[in-house]
Amino acid sequence: MNTKAWGPGTQCIAKCDHTKPKLNELRFEKGDILTIIEATQNKGQYRAKHNKTCEEGLISSNAVREREAIRADPALSLMPWFHGKISGPNAVQLLQPRENGLFLVRESIRHQGDYVLCVCYQNDVVHYRVIYQEKKLTIDEETWFCNLIDMVEYYMKNQGAICTQLVKPKPKEGTKSAEKELSKAGWLLDMAKLKIEEQVGEGEFGAVYKGDYMGQTVAIKNIKCDVTAQSFLAETAVMTKIQHKNLVRLLGVILQNELYIVTEFMGKGSLVNYLRTRGRTVIAEKQLIQFSYEVCEGMEYLESKKLVHRDLAARNILISDEIVAKVSDFGLAKADPKKEDNAKLPVKWTAPEALKQNKFSTKSDVWSYGILLWEIFSFGKPPYPRMSLKDVKDKVLTGYHMESPEECPASMYSLMKSCWELDPGKRPAFKKLKGKIEKELRSTKAD
Ligand code: ADP
Ligand code: MG
Repeated sequence: MNTKAWGPGTQCIAKCDHTKPKLNELRFEKGDILTIIEATQNKGQYRAKHNKTCEEGLISSNAVREREAIRADPALSLMPWFHGKISGPNAVQLLQPRENGLFLVRESIRHQGDYVLCVCYQNDVVHYRVIYQEKKLTIDEETWFCNLIDMVEYYMKNQGAICTQLVKPKPKEGTKSAEKELSKAGWLLDMAKLKIEEQVGEGEFGAVYKGDYMGQTVAIKNIKCDVTAQSFLAETAVMTKIQHKNLVRLLGVILQNELYIVTEFMGKGSLVNYLRTRGRTVIAEKQLIQFSYEVCEGMEYLESKKLVHRDLAARNILISDEIVAKVSDFGLAKADPKKEDNAKLPVKWTAPEALKQNKFSTKSDVWSYGILLWEIFSFGKPPYPRMSLKDVKDKVLTGYHMESPEECPASMYSLMKSCWELDPGKRPAFKKLKGKIEKELRSTKAD
């Protein structure tokens, strides 16, 4: 008996067919994805919506299992057959037993930037040099590819100029095939069911489109480059673990040459744009406090899961058609602090200890939240107006912080200042901030 309580929005996968439903029951087949609407009075019974047919009805919790979170360890890989810098003899050793078409790709040691495709054929291993030239890859200088994934897909379907079609990848130890894992856990969506419509945004890593997945309006982030796609998989693994009304929900991913991340569609775009395009005359103060509260709720949830966001800013808050603010972009969440990442840091949002010593924590998120509050109450102005990044870095370390935005309630400004304590230990937790903003919300009149 499943005694677990599932909240609204929980995604479940059917464990069996239920093709002869009784009155009010939902019809589904094994493997279908259902979304919980609510628990009913009866134990173990839920109202649910079928993601495909969009029908609603009753289900028994015994017939379904909750969609699993993806474990990030061992690492999900889009290219499990990619072994990095290993030697030729090492590759020959790995390719056992010698089945025709068993293959791997390694980095060339002799030719920097090139790769080597190693394929088993008639009890031997053949090595093909993959030339990297003008951002394209080729083996025969006739067929060219944008990336290794493209190339492998091609030679799995065509023999081309090599000895045999590729049949079976030899996975690198410590990696799992992203496709297999995502599919097993129920996160792999079907490209055939996805309709891609107009472009709605441009991210750092590619375009964002509006679309439709089995009747639901969705946002689609398409990431082309294999190396970038690989790092985005980390984002995806994080997103499978979190479910909250103030965090942008992941519906699933599609792997088809490229990576597509499918999330709920946020019809009003980013918070920073929402504020800038409407301004003080349209948006009431109470709404600003409401946004602050909603972001704080989402962050409190991340805090409770011990997840650090690292890139909290108004540009990464999205607004739904119902005017609810949700936190998005977990791209940097949990990523390993690497030195070279430093150049990409959003300096004006990043806490001093994170800038200086790479110390990211929930408390450095609290600092960023303070900057985000400032953005909200100044209707989307860029923080530290007219100051250079270097100036900000230097002055913030000595205790400098921004003035209050115009007409900002004193209580909200004092919350900002509490987020900007130099000592991370002195900053309030999101849980505490939430309580304070809730009070503020109650005492503010709607106008
Ligand atoms: P970046 O890489 O700059 O963080 P994103 O890829 O997150 O950018 O998004 C770029 C833009 O695309 C956003 O500012 C927003 O306008 C739009 N966008 C992103 N995700 C969604 C979504 N889920 N729903 C609607 N619009 C979105
Ligand atoms: Mg963003």
